[in-house]
Formats: sequence, C-alpha cells, structure tokens
Amino acid sequence: MSAPGITVIGAGIVGVAVASYLQRDGHAVTLVDRGPPGEFTSMGNAGILSPGSVVPVGMPGVLKKVPQWLTDPAAPLSVKWGYLPQAAPWLWRFIRSSRRNRVEEIADALRPLLGQTFDAYRTLTHAAGCTDLINQSGYIAVYETEAAFRSDALAWQLRRDRGVKVVELDAAQIREHDPDLAPIYVRGVLLPEQGYVANPLWLTRRLFDHFIASGGSYQQREVSGFELTDGRVASLSTTGGPLPVDRVVLAAGVFSARLAARLGTHVPLESQRGYHVHFPEPGISPRTPVMSGEFKFFTTPMADGLRNAGTVEIAGLDAPPTQARIDALVRHTKRMYPGARLDDMTTWMGHRPCTPDSLPVIGRSRQFGNVFFAFGHGHTGLCGGAPTGRLLADLVAGRPPGIDPAPYSPERF
Ligand SMILES: Cc1cc2nc3c(=O)[nH]c(=O)nc-3n(C[C@H](O)[C@H](O)[C@H](O)COP(=O)(O)OP(=O)(O)OC[C@H]3O[C@@H](n4cnc5c(N)ncnc54)[C@H](O)[C@@H]3O)c2cc1C
Repeated sequence: MSAPGITVIGAGIVGVAVASYLQRDGHAVTLVDRGPPGEFTSMGNAGILSPGSVVPVGMPGVLKKVPQWLTDPAAPLSVKWGYLPQAAPWLWRFIRSSRRNRVEEIADALRPLLGQTFDAYRTLTHAAGCTDLINQSGYIAVYETEAAFRSDALAWQLRRDRGVKVVELDAAQIREHDPDLAPIYVRGVLLPEQGYVANPLWLTRRLFDHFIASGGSYQQREVSGFELTDGRVASLSTTGGPLPVDRVVLAAGVFSARLAARLGTHVPLESQRGYHVHFPEPGISPRTPVMSGEFKFFTTPMADGLRNAGTVEIAGLDAPPTQARIDALVRHTKRMYPGARLDDMTTWMGHRPCTPDSLPVIGRSRQFGNVFFAFGHGHTGLCGGAPTGRLLADLVAGRPPGIDPAPYSPERF
C-alpha cells in the first residue's frame, strides 16, 4: 500500500530532489510550481557540485568591506543604495554570523549535508538514467596576487580542517592544468574531489521527467496562501483554486519566506542576485571549472558552452539587472581566457535564496505538523538539492536521519 500524498511547492532543483526522494519512499507526490520545472534560479547557476563547500558567505572581516559594497556596483559583493533600508536587518544578522566562532560552527554544519552531494545525486541520476550529467572532475581556484591568496587563508583552512582535500599549485602547475588560462596567475588551489553538472537545467529536467514517468504529478499554479484547520494546512490557495493537501513541503526558493511567514515561521531570507554570461562556442575546453580567487566567479565548461557565473548583488527581487555586473563578468572572462571566442553571448540574472548564516532551512514546522520546509540554500542549492531530498525524506518517514538536522532548524532565527 502506498503512503499518503505529499505536495511539494516549488520545482527548482531542491523541490524536484525532495519530490524524487519522497517518491522513492512510496509517497504519492505532487509538485506545484507557477512555472516550468527548473527554470528559475536553478537553471543559470555555475553548476558547481562541491561537497567541500563549507565556507559561509559572511566571513570574519566582512564589516571592513561595507564601504566597497556600497560604492562599487561591479564589486564581488555590492548592495544597491536604494535597497539598503530594506536589506539592513538582514545585513546586520549576516555581519553577526561572520564572527570566527560562528563561522566554524556553520562550516561544521554544512559539511555533513554537502559532503553527501555526489552520493545523494548518484541515487537520483542513476534511477533517471542521467549519470552522464555529473562530472567529478575537481576544480581549481586561481589567484593573480599572493595578497589575494593570503586573504583567503581562513577559507582554505576551514575546508582542510573538515577533511576536504586541498592541493596548492604554483604558476607552472596552473598552466599545466589549464594551458588556455592567461599567464597571470601566481597561486592556485586544486580541489580534486569536487565537480560540476554539465548543465544544471538539464539535470533538473531529467530528474523531473523521471519523477513524472514514475507516477509523480505536476500542477502548474501559483500558491498564494494556505487554508488552515485544526493546526494543519488543509489546502493551498492557488491561481487554479484551492488544492487540498495531506502533507506539504515548502521548497519555493527565494519566495519561501513569504509563504512560511503565513504559517507563523519567520525566516530572514534575502536574494543574493548573481549573474552569468554564457558563450556557446568558446573554442577552448578547460578540463575543470576554474574559480577566480580575486573576483569570486566560476568559469565552468558546460556541455553547451563556457559559462562564467557568480558575484553577489543585494538589490531585492524587483530591480532590473545591473549592466555593469554583466560587463564585469565579460571583462573577467576575457582576462582569464584571452583566446576564448566570446560570440553569441547570452546573459542571465538569478536570485539565490540566502539566510544570513549561509545554512539552509530544513525541517518540520513547529506550528503545523503536516508542513515541512526545504529552502534557503543560498550559494550551494545545487550541491544541497539531493542531500536535502534525502534528509527530508528521512524526517517525513520518522527515520533517524543520517545527519543532525538541528543546525538547519526553521526556528533558529
Ligand atoms: C549566479 C549563480 C551561481 C550559482 N552557482 C551555484 C553553484 O555553482 N553551485 C550551487 O550549488 N549553487 C549555485 N547557485 C545557487 C543555486 O542556484 C540555488 O541555491 C538553487 O538553484 C536554489 O534552488 P531552489 O530549488 O531552492 O530554488 P529555485 O530554483 O528558485 O526554485 C524555486 C521554485 O519555486 C517556484 N515558486 C516560487 N514561489 C512560488 C509560488 N508562490 N507558487 C508556485 N511556485 C513558486 C519558482 O517558480 C521556482 O521554480 C548559484 C546561484 C546563482 C544565482
């Protein structure tokens, strides 16, 4: 006999991975999304799968960078002046989370979840017949100056302390690893256990297609609220009318906090807008992704071209994309790969769903026993998608989870 039904709001990589793991447990699962699966933030990311991604965005010393955030619209992190009053409470929490002892705790909490990235995806991609989309190739980070390399020392130490393999490279080793890179990099780091997805949208689509082929259902509707009875969510208010539910998982990315607030759970969630520029025929084929240590973007050799993605802009959900940031990414790509063909470029901006402590929100609602949360994965939602699916399925089943979910508690704020 199959288990009772579960409705997952949001068909980004997190919602699709959650739906897939719940389906594997025998639940009848319905995915609800206002748009096609995978076509919001989950489509345009850098594609990095990084089980060693334990470093929070807010690191010690972040306060000193505030003037640069506010004055340089092309800086690795910038905040739009006009949006500052709205972002201030979130930024204050973000700065408080960047204290050294808290950063160590956050790294401890990220490692067990993200450490399962490849293993948790393997289960899903094997079933869906798309293991070819996952590359465990490693990636390198490259620095133009010793000073920039030294300023990231704590980030590398946080990884090493948690068993992430980190191999330092000199200029000659960088050139040997990737001969197409400009000869401007003096220090590098190879992370051999990390990798990337050949195309993140294709991954979400393939998992979604398998979910449907295995009996899952999909409703294209926008969810605006909940009908509540006796401490439970009885139905979703949607553009297609009320949708009765038995159990619900909220996995609506950056829009989750608004919906969670209607259920009495208040999560500070801010969009950290990121950009990509994508070149379909670059004429080069790097062996692995490359991260710029100075500018904090990734250049990833995807199946359909070279993608340069990253940077952080805090400007809310409604402001139009900032051309200066796109121009900066193009400049950086030319600087990194002077021989690449940069014709027929496409550009994209997306909204990372970010908590101030860089930890996701995964767990059961305290107020409504039939509601679970799975959102707020920030910069690592692609890495965290499948591990979150696995953890959430454990929580729903009442099985002892493989990892301690306490650090991801929806009630921690
Ligand atoms: C430039 C950039 C680079 C990145 N690089 C990486 C990387 O290399 N590796 C990595 O791990 N992560 C990366 N990320 C982060 C990653 O992309 C996100 O964390 C992840 O995509 C979030 O997935 P999600 O499923 O939570 O949200 P989304 O993909 O945003 O999905 C949420 C879904 O919910 C739906 N939805 C929202 N509200 C409603 C509603 N009311 N009713 C119905 N449906 C609704 C939306 O339509 C959407 O489909 C990057 C992000 C950016 C912007």
